[in-house]
Amino acid sequence: MASRYSRHLVGLVLIGMLALSIAGSQPLPEPAQPARPALPPEDGKLRIVCFGAHPDDCELKAGGVALLWAARGHHVKFVSVTNGDIGHWRDAGGPLARRRKAEVEKAARILGIATEVLDIHDGELLPTLENRRTITRLIREWKADIVMSHRPNDYHPDHRYVGVLVQDSAFMVGVPNFCPDVRPLKANPVFLFYSDNFQRPNPFTADIAVSLDAVIEKKLDALDTLESQFYEGGALGSADLLPSEPAKQAQRRRDVRAAFAARSQGFATKYRASLEQWYGKEKGAKVQHAEAFEICEYGRRPDRKEIAKLFPFLGE
Ligand SMILES: [Zn+2]
Repeated sequence: MASRYSRHLVGLVLIGMLALSIAGSQPLPEPAQPARPALPPEDGKLRIVCFGAHPDDCELKAGGVALLWAARGHHVKFVSVTNGDIGHWRDAGGPLARRRKAEVEKAARILGIATEVLDIHDGELLPTLENRRTITRLIREWKADIVMSHRPNDYHPDHRYVGVLVQDSAFMVGVPNFCPDVRPLKANPVFLFYSDNFQRPNPFTADIAVSLDAVIEKKLDALDTLESQFYEGGALGSADLLPSEPAKQAQRRRDVRAAFAARSQGFATKYRASLEQWYGKEKGAKVQHAEAFEICEYGRRPDRKEIAKLFPFLGE
């Protein structure tokens, strides 16, 4: 009897000591939460959210138009839907994801916009219900007037699924009982696709073409910050791209910049008909650098007058 009682007592003492040690110990530190960009004020300015699969896609496809909007005080946000953690021939994983996040943050400071990188592995994006909810919430939070994405036919599965996810959200952003935790949008945004060269099942149509002549140097400055991708060659680069002599390094930088300048000149040539439509025959013929966009069938379908309001620099 006595021994059973003492065992009971010892048990109670031990539980008491454990409780005291838990109460007295420091709480475990919270895992660091990445800071999310602040939401812009509701000041009547346009609100644009651009989705790209990787931390460089939005900058490449819409860096120029973002500069034009931002310079007029409109609110632009770039979202990289994956963290880019396999996008380098040498580096990978967390360190690469952090490096690429820092790169797009630097680019965003040059462009004057907000940027966010979602923590989804590069090369592994799927059009899941969870991701549809994430995209829907991001569009609603930003109270977007315009949403941009890749088209759903594209060589890269992550690009394709960003296109699918954004299209899947195009109706859901207005449905109050889908993700009821974030207020639905009253007006359906205009959804636009970035330009690409893919032909099947249907080629890209340049419904809107924008002259970048006023901002091209700044766009090239922003692209210059994405070193892991363009200077070092990204997933398919190699050590051969990185000369050790400073003079050759400077030359490589100039070559990359010149290649991007040539690329946006190519777009001006390719989408000349659309440029002439929006800028008039004479001005449109002289545009040197361009970006172009296709209007998605889902979401609001803007007429010419509304497009001119959404792109207030068209024709300038
Ligand atoms: Zn990409």
